Amino acid sequence: MGGGGGQRLEYLEAIGIELWVARGPAPPAAAAFPEPDAAVAARWEALRSEVQKCTRCPLHLTRTQGVLGVGPKRSDWLVVGEAPGAEEDRRGEPFVGAAGQLLDAMLRAIGLDRSSNVYIANILKSRPPNNRDPRPEEVAACLPYLVRQIALLQPKLILAVGRIAAQNLLGTEAPLGRLRGQVHRFGELNTPLVVTYHPAYLLRTPADKRKAWEDLKFARNLFQQLTQGAATDGHRS
Ligand code: SF4
Repeated sequence: MGGGGGQRLEYLEAIGIELWVARGPAPPAAAAFPEPDAAVAARWEALRSEVQKCTRCPLHLTRTQGVLGVGPKRSDWLVVGEAPGAEEDRRGEPFVGAAGQLLDAMLRAIGLDRSSNVYIANILKSRPPNNRDPRPEEVAACLPYLVRQIALLQPKLILAVGRIAAQNLLGTEAPLGRLRGQVHRFGELNTPLVVTYHPAYLLRTPADKRKAWEDLKFARNLFQQLTQGAATDGHRS
């Protein structure tokens, strides 16, 4: 969990956004989440097993393993990325390479880490060869797994990182820049969804880290409103 101001400064510096640290409110306090009951735990295990054995799309032919996700099985936050990369495919966990380290720093900057209150998953559970973009039919085959994860997690807020996640979750071809700074909704539970850049993109385009930090603050503030029972829709003021 993010600590005091000094520690947060360190995280912000790690993602190149040290300019904002002085004015932001303190990160939200850590929340203790109970383990799911036996029935929910069984549904998680079934889901994990299905993804491991899944042959619904041709990506199963080239992957090492299906990568379901990581994090507490009841979490207020759900981060959704694109697909496993080479390292994720090898280790069976999403966001474990350089982009994963940046994602961790981004999350810590708003008081989150992998061990508490945030679950991390991808649109696709299997790695596309050479990290190419997911194909529509692959997304169509795989998205039901994410929908089931969301039903089990019941997150209060989804953070879609990157164009692929945002466009596929929202069913739009709008550019990512147009999707930022708004509260979208996803799925049957109408879960609030906020969009920001993928950390792999930010590694290539550090000038946009400033915008990512704006998005993170937007998400953090929205989360605080949601947990205070004052959910809002619409554009960032
Ligand atoms: S990407 Fe999804 S649908 Fe395709 S094989 Fe992997 S788990 Fe199955």
